[in-house]
Amino acid sequence: MSATINRQILLAEKPSGKLTPDHFRMVEGAIPEPKDGEVLLRVRYISLDAANRAWMQGATYRSAVEANSVMAGGGLAEVVATKSPGLAVGDIVFGDTGWQDYAAVPAKHLTKLTQVEPMTHLLSVYGVAGLTAYFGLLEIGKPKAGDTIVVSAAAGSVGSIVGQIAKIKGCRVVGIAGGKQKCDWLTSELGFDAAVDYKDGVLFKTLKAAAPDGIDVYFDNVGGDILEACLPQMKNYGRIVCCGAVSQYDGAPSPHGPRGLPGLIVVKRLVMQGFIVTDFMARRDQAVADLLSWVSSGRLKVQEDIIDGLENTPRALIGLLAGENRGKRMVRV
Ligand code: NAP
Repeated sequence: MSATINRQILLAEKPSGKLTPDHFRMVEGAIPEPKDGEVLLRVRYISLDAANRAWMQGATYRSAVEANSVMAGGGLAEVVATKSPGLAVGDIVFGDTGWQDYAAVPAKHLTKLTQVEPMTHLLSVYGVAGLTAYFGLLEIGKPKAGDTIVVSAAAGSVGSIVGQIAKIKGCRVVGIAGGKQKCDWLTSELGFDAAVDYKDGVLFKTLKAAAPDGIDVYFDNVGGDILEACLPQMKNYGRIVCCGAVSQYDGAPSPHGPRGLPGLIVVKRLVMQGFIVTDFMARRDQAVADLLSWVSSGRLKVQEDIIDGLENTPRALIGLLAGENRGKRMVRV
């Protein structure tokens, strides 16, 4: 290993409003030495996730990211030194590497991956995004052929896969996304039946036109006003998959929506269920096998948005929260 410096991006200050580049700081230090049971990783790709921002707000399904610590984040990495019998030099793993060039991580916190081409698919379709879409839709949403499925953040990494899996399962799919270009892409490239631009100011009306008979499954990635617009349009016995609430992550939570929730749930006999993808990891192999077969047969298109340079990671996250990305955003380190 010729490099001696480890660049790290710290969360310099916790944001109280919108995230800006000033909330981060890059520092340089020595490459860490792995301890017993650990491996030294060279980080290849850092996953950008809406959840990165939520982790700054406080403890969730993981502890909060604190000021002056290395920004947490999932990464695809290569083992370059090992003090664990379970992992060898050259192995490719996924884990919380943080935003840095090198990380010393306990082997028990890493998932060893079978290599695929291109390697980036391990972060997108066969990674957290694809698995979240797969288990969230199929296990929580329980779609049946002929159902109408609505998915928000539909052009993002999870949403774009949810819509395509729903099509594979014989459903009618409506995507909600920001802007005409993303909406056109969903229908022309990904095979969605309709797409609705939530930024046009008439979401309720356009959604009604796109799903005139109502919604069987709403896959909610955003919460807030979009959830409020979907709720009254749910069919009786509809299912709402609570995957995330990206509209609430960056800045003060919206004072609006969803209003009328308890009444609508009762009258329409709705099921609304949250989940975390890690709940399903024991069944990862089955999901990856299905995703692989759909990708190789051309039924599932993989969209990736790759940005170069560790130093660009803060801007990549800020851009993701602003809707710059199409598909899975990641940084090549
Ligand atoms: P992503 O969908 O690739 O990107 C986020 C997208 O959210 C942006 O592209 C933007 O697209 C949209 N967005 C941002 N602000 C919005 C707003 N105020 N209203 C509506 N849309 C907004 O990001 P991701 O990391 O894959 O996350 C998607 C969701 O999945 C998040 O809620 C995340 O927390 C959740 N998630 C959950 C799990 C789980 O285990 N439950 C696992 C992974 C991810 P537009 O241009 O369309 O606005």
